Amino acid sequence: NTPLHFAVMGNPIQHSYSPLLHSLFARQAGLDINYEKVLVPPEDFESAVQTFFEQGGKGLNITIPFKLRAYELAKANLSLRAQSAGSVNTLWMEDGLLHGCNTDGIGMVNDIRRQGIALEDKKILLLGAGGAARGVILPLLETGCRQLQVINRTATKATELVEQCLASLPQYANELSAGGFEHIQGQWDIVINATSSSLQDNTLPLPVGLFTHNSLAYDMVYTPENDTPFLQQARKDGARLASDGLGMLVYQGAESFFIWNRVRVNPIPVLATLRQQLIAG
Ligand code: NDP
Repeated sequence: NTPLHFAVMGNPIQHSYSPLLHSLFARQAGLDINYEKVLVPPEDFESAVQTFFEQGGKGLNITIPFKLRAYELAKANLSLRAQSAGSVNTLWMEDGLLHGCNTDGIGMVNDIRRQGIALEDKKILLLGAGGAARGVILPLLETGCRQLQVINRTATKATELVEQCLASLPQYANELSAGGFEHIQGQWDIVINATSSSLQDNTLPLPVGLFTHNSLAYDMVYTPENDTPFLQQARKDGARLASDGLGMLVYQGAESFFIWNRVRVNPIPVLATLRQQLIAG
């Protein structure tokens, strides 16, 4: 019995937690797997994917900067989530054909639910209009939220993103809207930071009074202590629930694991282990 072979491809790749995540999932599931990090030179991505599967690889995670090229490679067989995200983080072979999905968005939604927060009928503000924001729009709309407003520093990018989404998802015309930071009004149940502001140690130009004491502030960026500049800003403005994106990382992994192995694992103990590792440095 040879172990099942998996890998994550990116550039850089050194800091990826995917091998750790998947080895912990596999232990839970009782599967014998081998999951490696592969640093791929930019010009070699397509051939690296092809060789991996020719040699019997079972599943690949794709990270920066190759998610768009993975989407192109699997274009004939994309999940709805991948189509709507416009990028792919999970590849596998089925009936001899390359398939692609994007599990980031459902990973974030499942991480929010883990925290006991229902998304049905909620007002959700999504900050950012890059790849990460785009990836969560369909999974958020599918929860039955009442409103989803996409806000971006460059407001035209938010407007274009929403127009593009509505062209393929016209049934969400009442829920989905776009604007710049100056358009934010009222109070919101869930405010998601999908910008890279926290990575640059910047705060965002948010109006005061955005959060109620029941609001959730969610930052896709993570730090050891669950304490990004955006989360600090939100706590100061009254948000009682503040979560970084470490759980999103773990839950997107669990979803990829399910696609490849058809086994549901419990991400909660894996998240606890990863948090401890991050704190230990
Ligand atoms: P992109 O480069 O595609 O987009 C960046 C976005 O951030 C743009 O909307 C940009 O606005 C905005 N932005 C950047 N700096 C600022 C600032 N100082 N103030 C306001 N807005 C700013 O990045 P991604 O969408 O791929 O990633 C965004 C973040 O999400 C990253 O930090 C990434 O680490 C995180 N992420 C986390 C994941 C997880 O599993 N936890 C998964 C995926 C992403 P503009 O258009 O005006 O330039």
